[in-house]
Amino acid sequence: MNVFELDKQFIANTYGRFNLQIVKGKGSLCYDEKGFEYIDLGTGIAVNTFGFCDELWVKAVTEQLNTFQHTSNLYYQKPSVDLAKMLCEKTGMKKVFFSNSGAEANECAIKTARKYAENTKGKEYFNIITLINSFHGRTITTLSATGQEVFHKDFLPLTEGFLYCPANDVNALTELVKNNKVAGIMFETVQGEGGVLPLEEDFVNQMVKLAKENDLLLIADEVQTGNGRTGKLYSYMNYGFMPDIVSTAKGLAGGLPLGATLFNEKTENILKAGMHGSTFGGNPVACSGALSILERLDEKLLKEVEEKSKYIIDSLSNVKGVKSITGKGLMLGIETEKDAKEIALKCLEKGVIVLTAKNKVRLLPALNIPMELLEKSINIIKEVL
Ligand SMILES: *Cc1c(COP(=O)(O)O)cnc(C)c1O
Repeated sequence: MNVFELDKQFIANTYGRFNLQIVKGKGSLCYDEKGFEYIDLGTGIAVNTFGFCDELWVKAVTEQLNTFQHTSNLYYQKPSVDLAKMLCEKTGMKKVFFSNSGAEANECAIKTARKYAENTKGKEYFNIITLINSFHGRTITTLSATGQEVFHKDFLPLTEGFLYCPANDVNALTELVKNNKVAGIMFETVQGEGGVLPLEEDFVNQMVKLAKENDLLLIADEVQTGNGRTGKLYSYMNYGFMPDIVSTAKGLAGGLPLGATLFNEKTENILKAGMHGSTFGGNPVACSGALSILERLDEKLLKEVEEKSKYIIDSLSNVKGVKSITGKGLMLGIETEKDAKEIALKCLEKGVIVLTAKNKVRLLPALNIPMELLEKSINIIKEVL
């Protein structure tokens, strides 16, 4: 049996896969089993921050792999403290909890928010407001946090304590805060899976104001938007506020599983010894990969992200078949006249990997994609459109 047949037989049917087997990659190019070349504008869903097998990243990861691969969190190890220090220095946050995925980073954020509310206001303030069309993960609790009915219906009952607010609806948010005992508000500043939709500035400002007045924690889910993706190191930096908790994962370690939950001065000491943990969390190999990514996400690189973003938007805005383009930086959603999935399949046939989100074609290229490959791939997308 070939890979396609083996997958059908032995892997649980949870994914609607594209008909593509990737056998190797370098930078923004990858190859299937027949040697056909693809330009990758999906980066494994915003994971391969610097593309496939980036040289400095491979070096950092293999060096650590040849030193020691795991210790358990019962002992101290340098890659995790170096990474936590760098994350804090680059954001102004105070402490970090490491896990292995976005869902886990959010679980930690939710536990912390509940504990904070219990400490400051009382046990009954356990509710967390999330936004409709959000996506926060696949565990039962992060699924419950996710404001999309489609993900809920097969797994009831959900974890209680989540209230859903339409994104950008200040009145609805004000009412929810007024009428419930609320611990915090959790949000993506650009909704990814929900259709690449940025929050409006005015909504964010009002949310920050409400949080201040009611001592609500602001929890920024930066799992997809983080690590340079939107042209800032973290997407909340596109707005003028500081969250109390930041969760991130996907692109953080450039292709290895790593989640991080960042705490500010309000939340850094809420979790105490024994209250939370993870066997693999802060794995030294993953942290070494993350260090190699994070230290290169400087002003110059972020400026390039903005320039490439502008190039894509300028190139596609007036193309026939494009209805709108949303998003920030290199996280862009193209609303098309034709079905987005059909366009993604056509692009794949022509050697360009793109993603979809709801009714949009979603682009999440490597932050360092060479301009010539970007131009080539955008021209192919134009043809398909
Ligand atoms: C992907 C994603 C998650 C879940 O991350 P996993 O690593 O798949 O658990 C959570 N929040 C957002 C915004 C995401 O895009």
